[in-house]
Amino acid sequence: MRRISILGATGSIGQNTVSLIEARDDCEVVALTGGHNVARLADDARRLKAEIAVTSRPDLLDELRTRLEGSGVAAAAGDEAIAEAAARPADWTMSAIVGAAGLVPGMEVIRRGGTLALANKETLVCAGRLVMDEARAHGATLLPVDSEHSAIFQALIGEDIAAVERIVVTASGGAFRDWPLADLPRATLAEASSHPNWDMGQRITIDSASMFNKALELIETREFFGVAPERIEAVIHPESLVHALVGFTDGALMAHLGPPDMRHAIGFALNHPARAPLPVARLDLAAIGQLTFRAPDDARYPALRLAREVMAAGGLAGAVFNAAKEAALDGFIAGRIGFTDMAEIVEAVLDATSADAAAGRGGYDLEMVLDTDRLARIRAGELIAKRD
Ligand code: NDP
Ligand code: MG
Repeated sequence: MRRISILGATGSIGQNTVSLIEARDDCEVVALTGGHNVARLADDARRLKAEIAVTSRPDLLDELRTRLEGSGVAAAAGDEAIAEAAARPADWTMSAIVGAAGLVPGMEVIRRGGTLALANKETLVCAGRLVMDEARAHGATLLPVDSEHSAIFQALIGEDIAAVERIVVTASGGAFRDWPLADLPRATLAEASSHPNWDMGQRITIDSASMFNKALELIETREFFGVAPERIEAVIHPESLVHALVGFTDGALMAHLGPPDMRHAIGFALNHPARAPLPVARLDLAAIGQLTFRAPDDARYPALRLAREVMAAGGLAGAVFNAAKEAALDGFIAGRIGFTDMAEIVEAVLDATSADAAAGRGGYDLEMVLDTDRLARIRAGELIAKRD
């Protein structure tokens, strides 16, 4: 039996992971974690006979306990309890908490030398160098789950990274790819929360509309695969069927195609290093007819330019970028700032925090990442307050 834990089990990636685990008979569940949705957490923990269910919300522990009564599943709450659950021995752990909150629990898995399926891209954006160093030091296995990174990983199997000339990450262009630019400042939360092709959590869906998601993914590509920033490109591909391409020095360009269904990338990581059947649709190429690509427009997507600046700056700039983005996104979701204010605030925080970020260039530890994250959120909060 394989022992499995799912961090962020109640979310979009978490639920897809639960469905794949449930369809197998070779898995037993160690820990499931969630946030506000304790009803779903308790249901899943009961059904999957988990050892422990943990909510990040201490105020919801009593409710979780009540819902788990008589099930034999232990209950716990709070960030520390999530980190402790992640530290429990398991053969495979899904990192699917949203935001920088996924960093510390993921690090627990790495430090016990476990296998971490990484949907939480923020882990690598905030602390890529530290995470990759610790993974090497502890013999941990990192498997990408972000669809683009799973695609790159698959295209690189059996290849020499030294022969990679470029990596092309595709982007749908999000909800506003065809909107007149002048309308973007008035884009509403509901409009930004609908994705043309993928069904995902609300935060990543809004990040797709602003392309902050792609910006994070460029940094994630750099950190995961160790490829120089100038070798990493983003291209708009409205059909979302080609997830990424890897170009080699001999001119070959290997593309990974699949339906926009995260169960492929999750299932690939679950079956790795083998391949096994997965419940995803098969592409009918003749029915699809054509695939289109176009260059992203810098004026529409300032986040991509900011990602390049972050990669050039190095150090803790990724931690600043992500935290400022999370705070700006909170501000947009709360109706305090407009859609295009988000990138302006992130840029201003990056400028104001560049000296702190540079302090990490010679190396950094987890505490430095968390301090930088807090500082960037405070700076972003001040800027949001000025606009609200
Ligand atoms: P969701 O918002 O759907 O789910 C997030 C999960 O994290 C939920 O279980 C949520 O609990 C939990 N959570 C939220 N806040 C905290 C916190 N502070 N501490 C602990 N747990 C918390 O997100 P997604 O599933 O969409 O995304 C998860 C991660 O995967 C993100 O990093 C995203 O970028 C990445 N990703 C997602 C893709 C997708 O298709 N959805 C594709 C590629 C990457 P609750 O809901 O109970 O509050
Ligand atoms: Mg992605």
